[in-house]
Amino acid sequence: MDSLNAFAADKLAALDAASLKRTLKPTGRTDGVHVERGGRTLISFSCNDYLGLSHHPKVKAAAAAAIEAWGTGSGASRLVTGDNPLIGELETRLAKLKGTEAACVFGSGYLANAGIVPTLTGERDLILIDELAHACLWAGSQLSPARTVMFRHNDVAHLEALLIEHRAAHRRALVLTDGVFSMDGDLAPLDRLTTLCAAHDAWLLSDDAHGVGVLAEGRGSSFAYDGVHPPLQMGTLSKAIGGYGGYLCASRPVIDLIKTRARTVIYSTGLPPASAAAAIAALDVIETDKALTGEPVRKARLFTRALGLPDAQSPIVPVIFGAAEAALAAQQALETLGFLVVAIRPPTVPADTARLRITFSALHADADVLRLAEAVQALLTRKAA
Ligand SMILES: *Cc1c(COP(=O)(O)O)cnc(C)c1O
Repeated sequence: MDSLNAFAADKLAALDAASLKRTLKPTGRTDGVHVERGGRTLISFSCNDYLGLSHHPKVKAAAAAAIEAWGTGSGASRLVTGDNPLIGELETRLAKLKGTEAACVFGSGYLANAGIVPTLTGERDLILIDELAHACLWAGSQLSPARTVMFRHNDVAHLEALLIEHRAAHRRALVLTDGVFSMDGDLAPLDRLTTLCAAHDAWLLSDDAHGVGVLAEGRGSSFAYDGVHPPLQMGTLSKAIGGYGGYLCASRPVIDLIKTRARTVIYSTGLPPASAAAAIAALDVIETDKALTGEPVRKARLFTRALGLPDAQSPIVPVIFGAAEAALAAQQALETLGFLVVAIRPPTVPADTARLRITFSALHADADVLRLAEAVQALLTRKAA
């Protein structure tokens, strides 16, 4: 075998031995909650399409109309010819939702963070990042020459101590956190973080991928608190908004700088017009149907109460099994009952915290949520025995 193939084969064998090899499984999402996989139809508790908007008739019609009008792709970087008018319209809507002066849309949430962080920080700067922050915030940090220091998860006192220790020796400081943590479903204390960061002239970026559309009547995680908001509110169009793309909402000068300098804006093709149209139609639904936006968390709480767990704070509920094999076995057991709940293993989560990551949709029937709770309870009882 040549060295390239030997390298790949050896790595795969080691991952497989540790139950860490991953394989793609073709999965057709036929509506907001059902999926077709391996010839079976399953009820999915593993999609981030919390409001079912990816299949909403108005959202689909808007995307189809945009394809008819503008074609399937945007044709170039936004700074060349790829800035379809729908993208600007979407930015106005996002800024309004978040209460900021302006917004910038990116090709995805990952591209947003990979572009924002190195645009705002350089060599003499400091990045402080929550240890459980999403992989793309870490990726953004790695693309910046700034010094990166991790703070303990949601530990405001630890962040304060690090600011006191390191802030003065650096020119600028950027603090990175998820608003809703993607694998644990807990919320960052964005009110206290915003106040602390302002006091130390540090810029707070909150990643609201799992908050927009589902918390605080759809406005997102920082609106769960009174008054203060992080100056940098990033998020994705790919979860509750039901489509694809990412965004940053911030002040006009910050957004103008990002549009001029962020490499993932400059050197990547603009969002397809249909994705912008779909997101605008999804925001119409989110802004007019406030009751719908509260449903995913209500379903999540139905589940946590049935299991005697602390109340869910978001549509994401982790059930920790520890060992990767145990989480995989739980996934398989639920699949035989008709539920798709995907096991999440390291390195996506810390070692020995492999889990079922259960996500709830407004479209789940309460009865199915309760049936899942019973099935998970049975697995946990068996594990404890
Ligand atoms: C999913 C996710 C992203 C990435 O967004 P995409 O649009 O899927 O690239 C970023 N941050 C968090 C917290 C996420 O969960």
